[in-house]
Amino acid sequence: MTDTPSTADSATEQPTPRRNPKPEVTTIGGRELKPATLMMGHGFDPALSEGSLKSPVFLTSTFAFESAAAGKRHFEGITGQRPGGADGLVYSRFNGPNQEILEDRLAIWDGAEEALSFSSGMTAIAILMLAACKAGDVIVHSGPLYAASEGFVAKTMAKYGVTYIDFPAGASAEKLDEVMKAAKAKAEEQGGEVPLIYLESPGNPTNALVDIEAVKVARDAHFDPDRCPIAIDNTFLGPLWQRPLEHGADLVVYSLTKYVGGHSDLVAGSVAGPKRFIDAIRALRNTMGGIADPNTAWMLCRSLETVELRMQRAGENAARVCEFLKQHPKVDGLGYLGMIEDERQKDIYDRHCLGAGSTFSLFLKGGEEECFRFLDNLKVAKLAVSLGGTETLASHPASMTHLSVAHGRRQELGITDSLVRISIGIEDADDLIADFEQALEAV
Ligand code: PLP
Repeated sequence: MTDTPSTADSATEQPTPRRNPKPEVTTIGGRELKPATLMMGHGFDPALSEGSLKSPVFLTSTFAFESAAAGKRHFEGITGQRPGGADGLVYSRFNGPNQEILEDRLAIWDGAEEALSFSSGMTAIAILMLAACKAGDVIVHSGPLYAASEGFVAKTMAKYGVTYIDFPAGASAEKLDEVMKAAKAKAEEQGGEVPLIYLESPGNPTNALVDIEAVKVARDAHFDPDRCPIAIDNTFLGPLWQRPLEHGADLVVYSLTKYVGGHSDLVAGSVAGPKRFIDAIRALRNTMGGIADPNTAWMLCRSLETVELRMQRAGENAARVCEFLKQHPKVDGLGYLGMIEDERQKDIYDRHCLGAGSTFSLFLKGGEEECFRFLDNLKVAKLAVSLGGTETLASHPASMTHLSVAHGRRQELGITDSLVRISIGIEDADDLIADFEQALEAV
């Protein structure tokens, strides 16, 4: 993020030494290096850290300025008095070497101009929404959303005079047009604007997909794209299997806790997109804190080196497990993106997705009792919420992650008592199939 050397505005202001002064090698013989290659060293120069091949963890709360003028220049950037943000390291609530290396690498995966790291996915989402909205505004969002995201919009943002209009994930172009029209009318009535369209696709936990391209068409027809970004939570498929910025989204949001972290050993989040939208989010993060800590940022850089491998293996395992589950007499259905029956959802999948992922919903014949029996009998898969880790996890959204969602709303969104959410890991696929087979037998 701060790799390009800054130009000092006066003779007294010396440019800050760069974290990585060497030009980055991003192409060889005209060939653009792939993200998997760049993850091994992008944004870090060992020569600046005693030759250490891997970046150290920079545990410091503040950074020594090389001169008072440099300190002033950095604060002009931090406070927004000079466009372009900080051009050096200042204070660990604002930035740090580990976080900047991580953010540079995250931006690569989504083809984004810039990325910001956060202490959790929810911190990323909350700061994104707070930065975008003021009293009277209306957020348009898809449903279902992760329950805490939905609650943050409906309850927390409501306290600050921000309302919302939601639409079901698979909504048609006509429906989306109606929703935008209604949101515009509501915002005008409240003396506000529509400053954010917030999507989650696939939605947690049903895997319902949103037509990002159609949302962009509807947004462009009713709002100024520079004042109404489309943000999307890409946690379930990103960064490998869906690249939302290529389909019309402006900002991509992650719970890095899931596939990117990938080992169920950290909590973090991110937002990536063009600088013109990122600047306001960064400014609020500077004020509030909420940046990922250095150790977590270091762990995430470690994780990014294997994210492609892990996701590919988990995806292959999920395909095999779902083939087995599909034909089992105690299974009522699967919400797996590799087996979509609905025509509209299949069309969105074909246009937007590069893989079916490894998180899906398993509908058992029966209800809570049958699901609990299944979960309590798993021996390899762990009974835990979360997803995207190396190990297979299974949970019951209606009584766990989505318990706070009103019963009626859960039914409307398809989060029924017979739904078990499964996130397949990178174990041996046959071992997983054996585990699911014996747990189903116990139902
Ligand atoms: N978005 C989705 C789709 C999630 O599943 C989650 C957590 O489960 C979050 C956001 C929140 O992320 P975090 O737990 O890192 O705050």
